Amino acid sequence: MKSSVIANVAEHLCIGCGLCAAFCPQGILAMEWNRYGEYNPVTVSPCTTECGLCLKACPFSGTGENEDTIGERLYGAVPGIRHRSETGYYLASYVGYSEKHRATSASGGMATWLLEALLAEGVVDHVICVAPTGDPERLFSFRVFDTPEEVRTGAGSAYYPVELSGVVKQILEVPGRYAITGLPCFVKAIRLAQQRNKKLRGRIVVTVGLVCGQLKSREFTEYIAALAGVRGEVTGVRYRGKNPDQPASNYHYTFTTSDGEEQRIFWNEGISEAWTNRWFTPKTCSYCDDVFAECADATCMDAWLPEYSRDSRGTSLLLVRSPAVQELVERRQGISLDPIPVERVVQSQSGVIAVKRQHLAYRLYLDREGAPKKRVAPSRPKNPLLRQEIALKERMRVVSRDRWGAGERDAEHLRGAMGQDLKRLAVVRRLSKIITFPVRTLRYLRRAGQGQ
Ligand SMILES: Cc1cc2nc3c(=O)[nH]c(=O)nc-3n(C[C@H](O)[C@H](O)[C@H](O)COP(=O)(O)OP(=O)(O)OC[C@H]3O[C@@H](n4cnc5c(N)ncnc54)[C@H](O)[C@@H]3O)c2cc1C
Repeated sequence: MKSSVIANVAEHLCIGCGLCAAFCPQGILAMEWNRYGEYNPVTVSPCTTECGLCLKACPFSGTGENEDTIGERLYGAVPGIRHRSETGYYLASYVGYSEKHRATSASGGMATWLLEALLAEGVVDHVICVAPTGDPERLFSFRVFDTPEEVRTGAGSAYYPVELSGVVKQILEVPGRYAITGLPCFVKAIRLAQQRNKKLRGRIVVTVGLVCGQLKSREFTEYIAALAGVRGEVTGVRYRGKNPDQPASNYHYTFTTSDGEEQRIFWNEGISEAWTNRWFTPKTCSYCDDVFAECADATCMDAWLPEYSRDSRGTSLLLVRSPAVQELVERRQGISLDPIPVERVVQSQSGVIAVKRQHLAYRLYLDREGAPKKRVAPSRPKNPLLRQEIALKERMRVVSRDRWGAGERDAEHLRGAMGQDLKRLAVVRRLSKIITFPVRTLRYLRRAGQGQ
């Protein structure tokens, strides 16, 4: 069935956004967990028309526009708009926080502040964001909210699969103006669907993107819970707990279980190892070239810059593309916000940019047969250490996903299985540091000379 997204699933090019299931005119698609704890569409009855609409709204099918052309169409003619290859279009860039929101938010609380402001100012009637459910089978889901109090229950990051089919069906059924949050590929899917559907075009009036390094499967949360020593059934997790005596980067996850147990684990206690080495990352993320949610009206992210990341309370960076959002932000009601050069925004995500540019180029080079067409050309890095790093991380991604998916759910066993690759990676990193030491020293001296 080549003219359906089901073929994409078989080719591991499904991120589980669920737009196809909402969009199918015959209603034959539903979103279900696969064995790796990722969402995939499944057919609940035979496809009789093969209209291909599901593929046209799919962010990874390669049948529709890419982020460059979508961005150009949406923002290319906005007065004062600028463009960078890393960020896509942008009107303005800011750094700051909302004092009222930052304690419960992932970083500086700018996303929740913005969503609430859109409601309060009457720009939208409904906000769609992600909130905890309390259901062990599906710890988070997209929800439609109508009040700031409800929107606040969604504050924080969900490093957990969520899918859009339910809320998009609701938008199609219930008239009104909606704002919606999403990771880059989810926002792209919404834009592709808007091109084909007048109701979605008229009703989704603001999109708030989140910078994304990678999505994680449900297995990731299961693994970290096991690492934290959680024994009971997990009914809730907060991924971004803040600690006054720690830098913003050493946040903690808190798990709650059905029998009232609560367990914490810090970034430096094993989350970092699984996150940065791409354990439990869906294969589809290996083909993503959008860091800054280029199709979104505004994009929020962490201020991973030395002058901000020491502050445990968290600080946000914000890229704005839509004049209406810029106008709202410029009023700065209830927030502390300053302009920041876009170069600093790019610098704050240098790691993610490397993964979605140089690493992607090598993955495309290795995978020439099955790789989708991306904005990055396939190429083989000259640096053998970089090639080693990319290959080792890819192997760990596959091993973690396969082992947990096959039922080997023992955190210590898994770490044991990764031992050799982790050791090799440590050697690769040490050698890289030695080799790049002169260049880094020169760069540091140059910056010091410029008084930065
Ligand atoms: C999988 C993932 C990977 C990320 N990777 C990076 C990264 O590499 N670098 C970086 O700087 N930032 C990354 N982020 C974004 C970061 O975690 C924060 O969400 C961002 O800094 C906004 O913080 P805030 O305090 O402004 O938002 P908050 O005030 O905490 O509000 C966040 C809003 O986003 C919604 N939301 C949370 N999770 C999701 C989700 N999965 N899908 C859609 N909406 C959601 C919430 O419901 C809430 O409305 C990632 C987020 C996710 C979910």
